[in-house]
Amino acid sequence: MGTVIVVGAGIGGVTAAVALQRCGWGVTVLERSVTLGEVGAGISVWPSAVAVLTELGVKGIDQAAALSGPTALRKPSGRWVVGAADLGVELPVMIHRAQLHGLITAEFGPGVTVRTGYLVKTVTQDDSGVLINDELRADLVIAADGLRSVIRSALHPQYAGPRYSGYTAYRGIADVRADDGGETWGQAQRFGVTQLIDGRAYWYATANQPAGQGGDLAAVIRRYGGWHDPIPAILAATDTALQNDIYDLTLPLVPFATGRIALLGDAAHAMTPNLGRGACTAIEDAGALARHLQSAPDPLTALTRYDAERRPIATKLVKRSRQIGQLGQLDNPLAVGVRDVLMSVGASAARGAAALRKMKQSRRDHSSAGS
Ligand SMILES: Cc1cc2nc3c(=O)[nH]c(=O)nc-3n(C[C@H](O)[C@H](O)[C@H](O)COP(=O)(O)OP(=O)(O)OC[C@H]3O[C@@H](n4cnc5c(N)ncnc54)[C@H](O)[C@@H]3O)c2cc1C
Repeated sequence: MGTVIVVGAGIGGVTAAVALQRCGWGVTVLERSVTLGEVGAGISVWPSAVAVLTELGVKGIDQAAALSGPTALRKPSGRWVVGAADLGVELPVMIHRAQLHGLITAEFGPGVTVRTGYLVKTVTQDDSGVLINDELRADLVIAADGLRSVIRSALHPQYAGPRYSGYTAYRGIADVRADDGGETWGQAQRFGVTQLIDGRAYWYATANQPAGQGGDLAAVIRRYGGWHDPIPAILAATDTALQNDIYDLTLPLVPFATGRIALLGDAAHAMTPNLGRGACTAIEDAGALARHLQSAPDPLTALTRYDAERRPIATKLVKRSRQIGQLGQLDNPLAVGVRDVLMSVGASAARGAAALRKMKQSRRDHSSAGS
């Protein structure tokens, strides 16, 4: 195996580092921040991403994560649109973001060198390798440098890149239990809450507003403090709120592989958070990249196969997530009313189908037990 530079030590970059280290690559991680770690609140991790992390040897997820309950949907008044029900579909686990990052970096061995406080400005490649900032050379570069990837811009200067969704997101941790998690959809704004394993609650909220307007906990309390219980109590038990304007990447996405350079995570496919799958997709990218590097006849073929596998999957997720956001952030009261009715009817149909599936399964179990 050879050498690889991973640019960016977010969840995508550190997972890639662990995955590549495991298949024998010498890995250097370059991170512009002076410390390694993650800020943020909770994060949903779907079973497919948990499976990748487990296969990479990341330990402790089970102990650090709480299984989400079935999602219920309410109106700001508290009226149910969709009651919580087991639809027989897979659910993610919830974990604190910093904890997840820590569990992954705990797997860094002697094959991984980390340089923090290192800002990547330029990248060039030739037949034998890639050069970063005219000083660091490696056989391959994995660009995990996020939504505003410098490397993606260098490779695809014409690409439009980030696209503002029209809404901002707030997140926080409340020192209170919220066993009845779920989402509340209003007009151009949403609020969601879920329980963490340590007894605290992770909440998130979205609101339509121009990019760059900012916002803080006081703004959150003004917007959602009058919504149904237990939202006021959750906000009262919160010290501070993170605020991020929500962007995704313009479609079609650019290729995830260019010669010896691969894009991974948000650098390749930043999506709105409506499916809670951006970091999970980055984790799955890392697993796929390592798999192709192990099985392909040469690294360039591996990167091409990685692009062929991952780009269509990520494109679908970017699209679906964008559509859910558009539905959730509807501003017109008439459209909001129609949306809520359709969601209620759709959920009843899904509940009916799930009950039927369960009934058929139990008949099958019964008849095979009797035979
Ligand atoms: C409100 C919100 C909620 C979310 N909830 C979920 C969720 O529940 N589940 C989920 O799966 N996803 C969720 N996501 C998405 C998830 O946060 C991202 O998809 C994920 O963090 C992307 O990881 P990444 O490693 O690709 O990029 P990033 O986390 O952006 O990491 C990029 C890293 O590169 C570094 N960097 C950037 N440029 C340079 C440079 N030039 N030189 C050196 N270093 C550089 C940065 O400092 C950073 O550390 C959410 C996103 C938001 C905004």
